[in-house]
Amino acid sequence: MTRKLFWNDSHLSRFDAIVVEALEINTRQAVVLDQTAFYPEGGGQPCDVGVLNGLAVEDVQTDNEGRILHFLAKGTALSVGDVVTGEIDWQHRREMMQQHTGQHIISQAFFQLYGAETRGFRINDRLTEIDLTLELQPEEIEQAIVRAEELANSIIFDNREIRIHEVTPEEAAKLPLRKESFITDCIRVIEIDDFDWSPCGGTHAKRTGEVGLIAVRAWERAKKMTRLHFVCGVRALKDYRLANKSAEAAALKLTVGREEIESSVVRLLDDNKRLSRRVRELSELAAKVEAAELLAATAPVANVRIVEKVFTDRDFEEAKLIAHRLVDGEGVVALLAVREAEMVRLVFARSANVTADMNALMKVACEKLGGRGGGKPDFAQGGGNKIEELQTAMKAVSVMAAV
Ligand SMILES: [Zn+2]
Repeated sequence: MTRKLFWNDSHLSRFDAIVVEALEINTRQAVVLDQTAFYPEGGGQPCDVGVLNGLAVEDVQTDNEGRILHFLAKGTALSVGDVVTGEIDWQHRREMMQQHTGQHIISQAFFQLYGAETRGFRINDRLTEIDLTLELQPEEIEQAIVRAEELANSIIFDNREIRIHEVTPEEAAKLPLRKESFITDCIRVIEIDDFDWSPCGGTHAKRTGEVGLIAVRAWERAKKMTRLHFVCGVRALKDYRLANKSAEAAALKLTVGREEIESSVVRLLDDNKRLSRRVRELSELAAKVEAAELLAATAPVANVRIVEKVFTDRDFEEAKLIAHRLVDGEGVVALLAVREAEMVRLVFARSANVTADMNALMKVACEKLGGRGGGKPDFAQGGGNKIEELQTAMKAVSVMAAV
């Protein structure tokens, strides 16, 4: 069995080893070493990456037989008996160790303050999550998070020692373990001085100060528990930079201080709602006036006024409003088109006492324009992109409407 060097020294980044097995798994080479500092994926923590004799180690997994497999980049080959020098990516290890150790600390903080247990733990690409049995109302959770975050960070700022104990199940039973261990022989217990005792096989900081900072990003309800997303150490710094940059940019645009961004945005949204309402009201009024002008300029033929009009680059909703107002009275057919850069949009409407079928007219026009459309006998809309056919199409439906 491979000796786990990361087990006793989580800060060891360079080591020598001998290849004891060389396997081919799914066209990739995987080697087993007599000892390794590479942490294999497990317990919610991604594996280490790095190199063996300069060859990239892309993945490290434990197989069903408990072997630690180091997967090498394609095209590389090591043989049994080779003496190799391994080097783990220390920046990556430190980032993982900060999240993992931070998890022990924040989990104990929630346990001490609220009796909440941690049932799930995952280090994801940007954030780390834990599932807590935290039974609080949503309005109480924010406050609970602040308290737990403060306790956790005070433990980090204390720079407390973190010790590894290898104990028998009997000895473990006497320790105030935060979670039960199901291992029956030797149990590895991680002690954060006078704060937390947890059975764990992961990589941990030597002192809490290495974690740097814990910041909770968000929470949600998931699997009937409270799921917390948080960042520690270098990830907290990255996250702070990102948040600071966007906050500063928003504050600059709004010409306010960072503390006033939220109230400024609320005010802007309210203004926007009010203005949109006002624009709608004014559009209604303008449509009425414009419809009256169009009607005045159109002579009736056999008691029907056919209002035909092509607008250029006009809001289609406005054209629809005008069509509605045109046919409010009796004896009107409205045939309106809006010419846009790439297409033509049409809206046809008629007064209640006129018999022409707008749906039928629309089908004819759309066919000429190479598009689609339809509706009811008294109101239809559609369009197409053969702009050059617009005149012919309008002429055809105008003739049909007059029949
Ligand atoms: Zn751990």
